[in-house]
Amino acid sequence: MNDDCIFCRIVAGELPSRTVHEDDETLAFLDANPLAPGHTLVVPKAHHEHVEDMDGETAAAVFETLHGLVGPVQDAVDAEGSTIAFNNGEAAGQEVPHTHAHIVPRFEGDGGGPIHAVAGSRPSLADGELDEIRDDISERV
Ligand code: 5GP
Ligand code: ZN
Repeated sequence: MNDDCIFCRIVAGELPSRTVHEDDETLAFLDANPLAPGHTLVVPKAHHEHVEDMDGETAAAVFETLHGLVGPVQDAVDAEGSTIAFNNGEAAGQEVPHTHAHIVPRFEGDGGGPIHAVAGSRPSLADGELDEIRDDISERV
C-alpha cells in the first residue's frame, strides 16, 4: 500500500467508494467524476503505477474483472457499447498513479469519439520505418 495514493486508500477502506465488485486481487468502483452514467474503474489491489508494472497474474486478474463487469455495467445503464481504456502514464493523461481500467458506457449520439480520437497528429511512416519499429518491439518482448 502507498499511503499517498487515493486508490490504495480506497482499497484499504480509508476512503469511501461506490464499489461494484471486489475479490482478492481487484476492486471495481464507480468513477467519482463520471464521463457517462456507469463509468467504472477497475484497479489491482496492489499498488502498481503502470500497466507494464503489474506482474502477469495481477494483470490477468484485472482483465478477468474487467471482462466480467463490462456486460453488467452496460446493462445497468442501458448502454449500447463501452470504451475500455487505460490512461497509461502522465503523457497519456494518467492522473492517478495507480493503474486502472476505465469502463465508459457509450450511447448512440453521445457526442464522444472512438479511441482513435485520443492521439494528436498522425505520423506518416514509410514501410522501412514500420519494419524497424516492428523489429524493435519484437526483439524486446
Ligand atoms: P486517470 O486520468 O488517472 O486515468 O483517471 C483517474 C480517474 O479517477 C478520473 O476519472 C477521476 O474522476 C477518478 N477519481 C479521482 N479521484 C477519485 C476518487 O477519490 N474516487 C473515485 N471513485 N474516483 C476518483
Ligand atoms: Zn495505489
